[in-house]
Amino acid sequence: MAGRASKSRGDGSLAWLRERNRERVVGVLRTLGRTSQADIARATGLSRTTVSTLVADLKEGGVVFEVDPKARNGRGGRPGVQLVLQDSSKAVAGIDFGHSHVQVAVAGLAHDVLAERSCDLDVNHQAAAALDAAARMVGEVLADAGVQREAVVCVGIGIPGPVDRARGTVGSATILPGWLGLRIPSEMEGRLGLPVEIENDANCGALAEMTWGAGRDCTNFAYIKAATGIGAGLVVDGRLLRGASGTAGEIGHTTLDESGALCYCGNRGCLETVASGRAILELVGQGRAEAMTLARVIELAAQGDVRCRRAISDAGREIGVAVAGLCNLINPERVIIGGLLSRAGDLLLQPIRDSIRRHAVLAAAERVEVVPAVFIERAELLGALALALSRWNPAVASRA
Ligand SMILES: [Zn+2]
Repeated sequence: MAGRASKSRGDGSLAWLRERNRERVVGVLRTLGRTSQADIARATGLSRTTVSTLVADLKEGGVVFEVDPKARNGRGGRPGVQLVLQDSSKAVAGIDFGHSHVQVAVAGLAHDVLAERSCDLDVNHQAAAALDAAARMVGEVLADAGVQREAVVCVGIGIPGPVDRARGTVGSATILPGWLGLRIPSEMEGRLGLPVEIENDANCGALAEMTWGAGRDCTNFAYIKAATGIGAGLVVDGRLLRGASGTAGEIGHTTLDESGALCYCGNRGCLETVASGRAILELVGQGRAEAMTLARVIELAAQGDVRCRRAISDAGREIGVAVAGLCNLINPERVIIGGLLSRAGDLLLQPIRDSIRRHAVLAAAERVEVVPAVFIERAELLGALALALSRWNPAVASRA
């Protein structure tokens, strides 16, 4: 990323180069939050000596400060000194719209979440009410954290459907019916008086895992959100793959059976008709006295309920068939399984691994590891914050 930027400028002057390197170091600190000099050297490709000189300058200028390493791990020995950005005058906010909830958070540039709130709401069908609620909640978290509105440099927004970023609209009428034609960035900028960035929710999950979670050391991975619906965020060569109209990663609507059940997207036999949380609930809910939720199904499966166990492992097998196709196409190093369903652990993950082995090209199947996500319920919210942090600093924007 840096190499490309340097070449495009063609300016070799030492002062410019130094300033440029300084921006890169600050950019890495914005992206990674608390980090060490060694990690900065690794992320920028600069020598340790150069990083050390730049960091010394930044510390002297009050831009960067050291965090007491003892506070981080109470053991003896000599843990690596951790650095964070000093700039407490600025912050970012994140909004996660789920299908039936809104979550909002505010974070400092050191990647510390300062306050967050959530509320339940019919987001799918009440777009205007959801946007109003989110705007109100941003005001509330800013007040909770004691952060002035002017200090917020960007608001990242996660949307539970494909996002056409060029138009700022939802890219599918059937997946998020109430949002059709709504220009989300201008609607939210009008309500907030702040610059915003929007992104699909599975892409936000991928960003959270890339920035702080299971994709942190990985440049080619697929993040699968397995919850009420099924989506994927694809990271190829360190960048999110979005496609022409934002529907890249709509793995939930991969056709598995042409004559299968009708899906709400309008096609038949999509992965979501057999393996989504919605489909699992339909399968295991019949004939039970208690009202089932996905969390309850996972709990019952852990206690040995055979129907719940079978429904989850069958879902894993079907998800694995679709992921195998994905492995053939993008050849990821890692597949990160997130979303509420991933709380089922190996009951879900092992059938996914088995299906990949059975259906993907051998070389792709042998290379890929299937791991659980680090973030489950908050992945999209944290990803919205990561989006705002990365968007604010163009030097690191290629990570997003
Ligand atoms: Zn579908």
